Amino acid sequence: MKFSIQDPLTGLLSLETRIWDAHVHIWDADAFDDLAKWGNTYGVSRFMGIATPDVKKVLEQNGKASKIVFAFYLPMEAFANHNSDTLLSAVGEAHRLNYKMCKMWFGPRFLDYYQSKQKFSISDPIFDPVFSQIEDYELPIDIHAADPDYWYETVYLDKKRYRTKNQAIDEFTTVLERHPSLKAVSIHFGSLPEDLDKLSVLLRRFPNVSIDTASTKWMIRELGKNPDKLKEFLIEFQKRILFATDLSVGWTDRDDNYFATRYWSQRLFWETKVKNVELPFPDDDNPNPPTYINGLNLSPKFLEDLYWNNAERFFS
Ligand SMILES: [Zn+2]
Repeated sequence: MKFSIQDPLTGLLSLETRIWDAHVHIWDADAFDDLAKWGNTYGVSRFMGIATPDVKKVLEQNGKASKIVFAFYLPMEAFANHNSDTLLSAVGEAHRLNYKMCKMWFGPRFLDYYQSKQKFSISDPIFDPVFSQIEDYELPIDIHAADPDYWYETVYLDKKRYRTKNQAIDEFTTVLERHPSLKAVSIHFGSLPEDLDKLSVLLRRFPNVSIDTASTKWMIRELGKNPDKLKEFLIEFQKRILFATDLSVGWTDRDDNYFATRYWSQRLFWETKVKNVELPFPDDDNPNPPTYINGLNLSPKFLEDLYWNNAERFFS
C-alpha cells in the first residue's frame, strides 16, 4: 500500500468519531483554509491552534475561529535569557486576549536560536512566578519538554549547555511538583515515546498531565517498536492521550502533500492492521530508514477517546 493524493483515504475504513487535532501552528490566517480543507477530508473538525494575536484576530474577524481553540506562544527568547518580567507580561496578554493555553518549546536548540549565555533549566526558580501566574489564570500549558533521544546522541553532545534528556524531564517534573494545579499537555508523548516506563511513572504521579501524539514521524517510528507494550500503556492512560499532528500552516517550504500525508499516516497507524507500509515522507531522525507504519487496529471506543473525547474534556 502507498499514499496517493488522488485517493487520500487509501487503506482507511469509515470512522465513527470526529477528530480534534490538539496541536497545530497557524502562522498565517489565510493559509489556514488549506489545513481546514485537508482536515475535513480526514474527519478533523476541531483544532488547538498556536497563533499570534494578529493571526488570531484575522481568523476571528473572518469567522474562521469557531473550529479553533487558541494557544499563545510564550516568548522563548525570554526563557533563554532569564527574562521573567517579559514572560509575566506575555502571560498577562494571553489571559487578556482570551487565549486558552500557553505554548512553550524547550527543544535544546532554542538556546542557540536566542544566543543564550546562561545555564538554562526549566525549573530555574526565576521562572516560578511565571508558572504561578499561569496557574492562577488556569491556563493549561502545551509544553515541549525535550527532543528525541536520537538528537541527544547526535546533536546535543555538549551536555553542560543542552543538559541530558533525563535532566530536562526532571526539571519539568520539578515544575509540576511546585505547581500542583498546573494543567499540562506534555506534547510528543511527553517527549518520551522511547521510554514508556518513565512516562508511565510521570503520568501516575501527576494526574493533571496529558500527552499528545504530535510529530507523526517521531510517534510512528518509536511507538511502532513495541506494540504490545504500547497497547498496555494506551489502556492505562486511555483518557489522557490527545490526537495531534504539530502541522504548521503558513510555511512556504512544505510540499503539496504535507497535510494529507501526516493525517493519513497517523490514521493508518492508530486504526488499521496494515503491515510495513512505508512512511510517505522522509524521517531524518531514523538511523535505519525507512520508517514503516504498522497499524495498531485500536477499538472504536478507544479511537473515540483519542480522537475526540479527551481533547473535548481537556479544552472545555
Ligand atoms: Zn508544535
